[in-house]
Order: sequence, then structure tokens, then C-alpha cells
Amino acid sequence: MQEILSQVTYLAASVLFMLGLRSLTRPDEARRGMQLAALGMLLAIIGTMLHREILTYTWIVTGLIVGTVVGYPLGKFVPMTAMPQRIAFSHMFGALAATLVGIGEFYHMYQGDHPTNPSAADARFKMAALGFEVLFGALTVSGSFMAFGKLQEFITGRPVTFKGQNFLNALLFLVAVGCFGWLVYEPSNVLAFYVMVAIAFAIGFMLVLPIGGADMPVVVSLLNSYAGLAASATGFAIGNNVLIIAGALDGASGFILSIVMSKAMNRSFGNVLFGAFGSAGGAVSGKTSEGLTARSVTAEDAAVQLAFAQKVVIVPGYGMAVSQAQHQVRELAELIEKKGGEVRYAIHPVAGRMPGHMNVLLAEANVPYDRMYDMDEINESFAEVDVAVVIGANDVVNPAAKTDPASPIYGMPILRVNEARQIIVLKRSMNAGFAGIENELFYDDKTSMLFGDAKGSITKVISEIKQL
Ligand code: NAP
Repeated sequence: MQEILSQVTYLAASVLFMLGLRSLTRPDEARRGMQLAALGMLLAIIGTMLHREILTYTWIVTGLIVGTVVGYPLGKFVPMTAMPQRIAFSHMFGALAATLVGIGEFYHMYQGDHPTNPSAADARFKMAALGFEVLFGALTVSGSFMAFGKLQEFITGRPVTFKGQNFLNALLFLVAVGCFGWLVYEPSNVLAFYVMVAIAFAIGFMLVLPIGGADMPVVVSLLNSYAGLAASATGFAIGNNVLIIAGALDGASGFILSIVMSKAMNRSFGNVLFGAFGSAGGAVSGKTSEGLTARSVTAEDAAVQLAFAQKVVIVPGYGMAVSQAQHQVRELAELIEKKGGEVRYAIHPVAGRMPGHMNVLLAEANVPYDRMYDMDEINESFAEVDVAVVIGANDVVNPAAKTDPASPIYGMPILRVNEARQIIVLKRSMNAGFAGIENELFYDDKTSMLFGDAKGSITKVISEIKQL
């Protein structure tokens, strides 16, 4: 009876995970999605506690308390701008848990005081799952640690490459796969097991070393997928259904997300992983701004332009997240609407530093969901827009992606802001964005630059419009 109850609880947990994931596709339902998934996790823990072979709850309850005490402040206080590294940090622990379960299970089978020494056929199946779990788990731990370090900048964000790197990586990979094969053939081989674990850790470091800080979010998402696969394999190894399902969901969604992100950046997977793109800082290549001048405007001028515009499109980017200007942005939009204008928001799929970054911030500021338009929905209508207001966005509106084949972002789909009648760009300086390249849009005759922190600038524009 207890076992049936445990399985039913697992089933309910799995359904909640799926519903949670589904809700995450809409910003206005995302919060509820997270709550559903958290409830699913609680049910999964309860289901585990119902297992008869669990003799004491001490460790599970200790884990629950420690996890909550560490996790709650992490979720509450880490700023949105540090979210990618926080996610990498969490993956590291998820993968570490899977790896430790794998090592513990191996130890239980062949080492320790009373090894279970399963029969050959059982052991082979189990080792196939265990080996997979430990291989992917260990490389995700070290890979996620590197991603965390590069994003947090205590490890250089620049791609680190050296001669023979791909050869060395291939060699490590072959040895690890060789150990894996050997283990499936001879599951009790302690040496092969621990060599495989050590090499898998090394592979994680080596895989992320040549990837630039810029590409890290794609890598984090890929590592997320690996952590999911490791968790799923853990489920097979220890016969736990909820782990199999949750791991598969994680593995598949992480993989799809990596593909979506690569596509939106017009990069192939191979290019992200081996292309050494995204060296932090410094102009990469492409055109320079020599001989061009940008026109700067005051908040007063911008206010006049916006107060009398009929069609306005707001284009948020990473700078809006840095300055946390989303609430002021909404207030500005409401004010323009009061003056008779129509305001829409154009969201580029990779604006900001993580998928859905802009949607989440705008939803937090209560911007109506139906005012947010995806790139493909709004791009055709820029020519009819009176004023496009670019708030801390740069690469995602850079026309070089269409016009300059020498540019590193050539081919990346962009928001066609340059087709609008007037453009106001809010940023602090003429500095480059994420890809480290110049943006001709800032020198366009139709463009006015409103320099300063986005939040401060918008606050000034709001007070100017109120006086009109
Ligand atoms: P961006 O190209 O990085 O440009 C952001 C701009 O914001 C900067 O030029 C900066 O200029 C300005 N800024 C920074 N702080 C500001 C502040 N406090 N107030 C006003 N402006 C501020 O951003 P984006 O246009 O959103 O493009 C995103 C980039 O990230 C793309 O290259 C994309 O490929 C990459 N990326 C995105 C993801 C994702 O999932 N979203 C993942 C990986 C990579 P100043 O310094 O002059 O102020």
C-alpha cells in the first residue's frame, strides 16, 4: 500500500512538473508555473519518504532544511542581472547530487563493508545507467563551475584556446567512453570507474574553457540538459520513476532552449561550442564609427517627441535590466497613451542575457502581456512607427547584422528599428554591447541619443511630459 501511495505521489509530482513547464511559456503565468513545480518537488520528496526501505528521515529532512535555508535567499536576493550565473551555480549542485548518488550506488554495490555484488546481467544494466549518470553528472559539475566563474568574472570570460586542444578533448572523451564500455563489460572494475569520474570532471573544465563569456548562457542551457540526462539515468540506476521523468523533462527542455538561443543568435551549436566567439570587451571587427557623429538630445526634446507621437514602439535590452528601469518604462508608456499615442513593446528573443529576460522584467512591472510583441510579429510594422524608443538595447537593433558581412553578428535576425520614422536611444555612452561591436544605428540621421542611466533618463522624460 505504501509503495502504491509513493508511486501515485510521484505521478502527481510529474504532472505538476509538466504543468509548471507549460506555464513557463507565458510570462503572465510563469510565477504560477514555478509554484506548481515547487509543489511537485515537495510531493517528490514526500513520495520518496514513503519508500519502505528508507529507515530514517533524518538525512532527508536535514537536506530539505539546508536546501530551503540556502535556496530561499538565493532566489530572493540574487539580482536578475546575475541570473545566468546563479542558474549555472544551481546546475552544479544538481549535477553534483546525481554524481554523488552514482558514486554512492557503485560503492554500495562493490565496495563498503557489505557489497551487494549483483548478478552479472543485473549489474551490466545498472552499470550502463550508472556510468551514464556519473559521466554526464561529473562533466556538468565542472562545466557549470567554469560557466559560473566566467559569468561572475573570477575566471577570465575570454575564450582560452591552445594548440592541440581539440585533440586533447577528443582523447579525454575516448578514454572516458573506453572506461564506460569496460565497466559495462566488467561492472566491478573499481579502477575504471574512478578513472572515468576523474576524466569526466576534466572534460567539463576543458569543454567550457574555449567558450567566451558571451556564449555562456547557451552553454548553461546545454549543461542544464546534461544535468537532466544525468538525473534521468540516476532514475534508471536506482529505479526511481519521478527522477526518470523529471530528468527527461529537464534534458529535453534544456536542449531545445539551447537550440532556440543559438538560432536567435544565428549561431550553430558547433560554432558556440568550438567557435571561440564572444571575447569579453573590445571591438571585434566590422565597421568603425570614424568620421560619423551621433546627435544627442535632452530629456525635454525627447518628451516633446513622445508626447505627440501616435505610434510608439519600446525596444528594451540588457541596459533596461541593468538599470532596473521597467517600472519607469511602464509609467512612460501609460503617459504616452494618456496623450493619445499607442505603445507596443518589441521583444527580441535574445535581448538581455537570458531567454525571456525582457518579458519577465516587463511582466514584473505589470506591462500588459498583449502589448509585448515578438520580433517576427512586429518587424513588418516598424516603417509605420513614429518613434522607436530603444532602452539599453544595442546588438539586437544593430543593422550591421543585415548589412555588413564582416560583422560577427552578420545574419543574426534583428529588430528593424532603423525603419522607424524617429529613433530615440537611451544608453550611458557610445560603448558597444555584448558582441563588442559598433552600431551604425546610433549615427543614423533619424536617431537621437539620450545619454544617461535608463531609469534616470526615463524619470526625467516622464516629468517633462507631465509639464507639457
Ligand atoms: P547589449 O547588446 O548587450 O547592449 C546593452 C546596452 O545597454 C549596452 O550597449 C550599454 O551601453 C547599455 N546599458 C548598460 N547599462 C545601462 C544603463 N544602466 N542604462 C542605460 N543603458 C545601459 O544588449 P541587447 O541589445 O539586449 O543584446 C543582447 C546581447 O546578449 C546579444 O548580443 C545576444 O546575442 C547576447 N546574448 C543574449 C542571451 C539571451 O538569452 N538573452 C544569451 C546569450 C547572449 P552603455 O554602456 O553605453 O550604457
